[in-house]
Amino acid sequence: MIPYGKQHISEQDIAAVTAALQHDFLTQGPKIAEFEEKFAQYVGAKYAVALANGTAALHLCALALNVNEKSRVITTPITFAASANCVLYCGGKVEFVDIDPKTALIDLEKVENLLQANPKGTFSGIIPVDFMGLPVNLEKVRTLADEYGLWIIEDACHAPGGYFIDSKGEKQTCGNGNYADLAIFSFHPVKHIACGEGGMITTNRKDLYDKLQLLRTHGITKNPDLLQENHGGWYYEMQTLGYNYRLPDILAALGVSQLERADEGLEKRQEIATRYDAAFKNSKVCFFQYPKEKIKHAYHLYVIQVEDRKGLYDYLRTHQIFAQVHYIPVHTLPYYQSLGYQKGTLPRAESYYQTCLSLPMYPTLTEAEQDFVIEKVLEFCG
Ligand SMILES: *Cc1c(COP(=O)(O)O)cnc(C)c1O
Repeated sequence: MIPYGKQHISEQDIAAVTAALQHDFLTQGPKIAEFEEKFAQYVGAKYAVALANGTAALHLCALALNVNEKSRVITTPITFAASANCVLYCGGKVEFVDIDPKTALIDLEKVENLLQANPKGTFSGIIPVDFMGLPVNLEKVRTLADEYGLWIIEDACHAPGGYFIDSKGEKQTCGNGNYADLAIFSFHPVKHIACGEGGMITTNRKDLYDKLQLLRTHGITKNPDLLQENHGGWYYEMQTLGYNYRLPDILAALGVSQLERADEGLEKRQEIATRYDAAFKNSKVCFFQYPKEKIKHAYHLYVIQVEDRKGLYDYLRTHQIFAQVHYIPVHTLPYYQSLGYQKGTLPRAESYYQTCLSLPMYPTLTEAEQDFVIEKVLEFCG
């Protein structure tokens, strides 16, 4: 069986987890800080906060940025529901903006039109998603955000190690915090770095970093510098309403070990994408092209577009190839429909959904398996 995505657990990973099991701390131990430090360094951000999963990371980002009943937040419909749900958790409203069909990323021209058409202050933030691993041009998003007073949460779950080159010629790694206020990552097994469950927020803003640390553990602090009173060594204060969104030390140990192979995995993904591109070049199979000198695609997903998508999906399954569809547009999901979002309102996202299919893409996918996938896709598409 060939799935669309799969983790790679090495002997080194197993040894790291075994060692963590023998430490004094199964959670809240030293591996958390080590993972945070190394991950922050990997993406080039000042601070990182490890969390239970990517969804918890999104939730805390929304809380830290004070999303509430009055907030209206812009995002893309072509993403995992969690990118939008975090706004709803805090009582806010989501405004979906259609995609650019050339990239399947949120269309920044449409974002600008929306902002222009409404009084300033209508929207409080934007959540761009580096969908598939293709980095959003956050420099452009920042310009709009500054003009209209928005914060930015970059959903970089698909893009650890990806980057774009900005107008000054500088490399901007996803999650580096130079343009976005906060960025989030997931360590679900299908993502680049697997912890089982896990997430990370990265930022360059100390004020948000402090808030996030408090929110992660019930809003409780024991830090003597922050306490309002101090009754003794046992004393703690709950200063805000927080959650238990911690990542256990055992999983952080796995994360540290996986991170060491992140670049290797990224290169493997690039190689697979290059082979797929070459194979589909002169066929009816459409794939996304991008300027390679300006963008490093992290290839969480390799998405093709074909007319008879369901036919191809079913055909591949009969050959034990489990392709997947990313994503059903969020605004068309039954829960969002029940909130009043309507089908037909975002035609590009909806038509993209009719044709898209994610082919197997993970570092341990062998050349023979790649060839088999290519053969079966071309066989079906004629
Ligand atoms: C995986 C993912 C999430 C959620 O991460 P979890 O760790 O599964 O909670 C959010 N956004 C995107 C784009 C994702 O791919």
